[in-house]
Amino acid sequence: MIVTRFAPSPNGPLHAGHAHAAIVAHDRARAGGGRFLLRIEDIDGARSREEFAAGALADLRWLGLDWDGPVIRQSARIGAHADALDRLRAMGLAYACRCTRAEIAAAASAHGPDGPLYPGTCRGRGVDARDGAVAWRLDMNAAAARAGPLTWHDERRGEIRATPEIFGDIVLARKDAPGSYHLAVTWDDAADGITCVTRGMDLFAATHVHRLLQQLLRLPVPVWHHHALIVEGDGRKLAKRRGSPSLADMRGAGVDGRAFAADLRGGRLGKGLYWGDGGSEG
Ligand code: GLU
Repeated sequence: MIVTRFAPSPNGPLHAGHAHAAIVAHDRARAGGGRFLLRIEDIDGARSREEFAAGALADLRWLGLDWDGPVIRQSARIGAHADALDRLRAMGLAYACRCTRAEIAAAASAHGPDGPLYPGTCRGRGVDARDGAVAWRLDMNAAAARAGPLTWHDERRGEIRATPEIFGDIVLARKDAPGSYHLAVTWDDAADGITCVTRGMDLFAATHVHRLLQQLLRLPVPVWHHHALIVEGDGRKLAKRRGSPSLADMRGAGVDGRAFAADLRGGRLGKGLYWGDGGSEG
């Protein structure tokens, strides 16, 4: 049975791009007679706000989307994320890192999909994790060598060769948070029994890392469906700070959410909005 999810981070209001993501996940599950889950990705304590989590639920109802089972909270899983990190440490694939963002930016000589590539400063240094705040990083080359060649399947793009090396030594647990996006999302998709991970093309490359973590942690391997993004005329993703209305704004203005969802399903976007990354077909 197909199981999909919509997994917003409650650090801002949702906009049309999120509505599209939720509709794709919902419709993909319903078309296959499966389950559609809602997971609030609230492990970033500094940025997560309850009002945005509550707003996301209201937005989905306004769009006419119903989810199965209780709302899942990623923050309820931090113990499991810590266990997953311990397993990677026990395999000798994780190391403590003390570098600041500024130090990394100054020392980095290349860029990866997430920004400056970590130059490996703390790798092999044996940084003492008991001695103040540290982040934990994956020793990417060692991890990729241990896993061997990997592929993954995207419903729109077909068979993809995993190249997690382009990310360098990713963060597994942050200094200020017990987990990281990559580790938490990979763990939770397995814990929730997700069989088809639907999300935007902006996270396409991240899947290389998730496939690697699945292999190392012996987690089941789903298929992925990376959908087109809604962009502005300059090709950039929608953002509240550049004036894109939030779904809450639209709700407040009396817009019919189900009609709006029907427009998105039909590929009809509002003025000044376009489909990025390969058309409107989901
Ligand atoms: N929580 C992530 C976000 O809001 C999405 C996670 C995912 O779909 O992998 O960007």
